[in-house]
Amino acid sequence: MDELYQKLEQYKVDNSTELSIDDSRLIKSACKGQRLAEGDEREKALKYSELKYVCVASGTCKPRGRGLRKSRTLKKGCPFYIRFRLDKDRQALEVKDIQRSHNHELNANLFRHYPRQRKLQTIVEADAIQLLKAKADKKMVRSKIAIESGKVVTMRDVHNLAQKAKTDSEGRNNLQDVVDLLRNEFGCSVNVHQDKENNFLGMMFQDTAMKTSFKSYS
Ligand SMILES: [Zn+2]
Repeated sequence: MDELYQKLEQYKVDNSTELSIDDSRLIKSACKGQRLAEGDEREKALKYSELKYVCVASGTCKPRGRGLRKSRTLKKGCPFYIRFRLDKDRQALEVKDIQRSHNHELNANLFRHYPRQRKLQTIVEADAIQLLKAKADKKMVRSKIAIESGKVVTMRDVHNLAQKAKTDSEGRNNLQDVVDLLRNEFGCSVNVHQDKENNFLGMMFQDTAMKTSFKSYS
């Protein structure tokens, strides 16, 4: 199962395709009335007797309400799928059939921005930072990130993470993180009030909507 999972992860990266499980049958239900070969750990480990992955852009999105709200969904009714089933020896999942075509553009850049990929990347990086803080060998960290993220990782990337690890352990406080978040993710203008010893006194921030409504008063 792990092997299949790893292959799928690689496939996803190679083809810039994010997949999700659409349909599955647990081995147990497929074996109803049959006796499971005792001690057959491998078969049990497979967990599924049938598994269908679809593209995240599969399915359709029903317009909600009057359709006034602009939908941000990825669903485009994409026909792509891979179906796996238990092979004859019941020792592995094999590809039963596959529909390789998508009805949309596949874009490596877009793929990296799918929430799941971003989350994966964040977890991998956070792990790497912990290792670097613990003074782990940079080359080792590099190959670990490469394997886990399935991406090309340069020593430069590792050095950047090491820099992050360093500023982290230098007691960089959460305040800067909050300021960065407000600025970068929410496009706010932020003013932080600190005294001479860098003690936090207060913070003023405005997002775009606030700025606009403020302007309409003045
Ligand atoms: Zn697709």
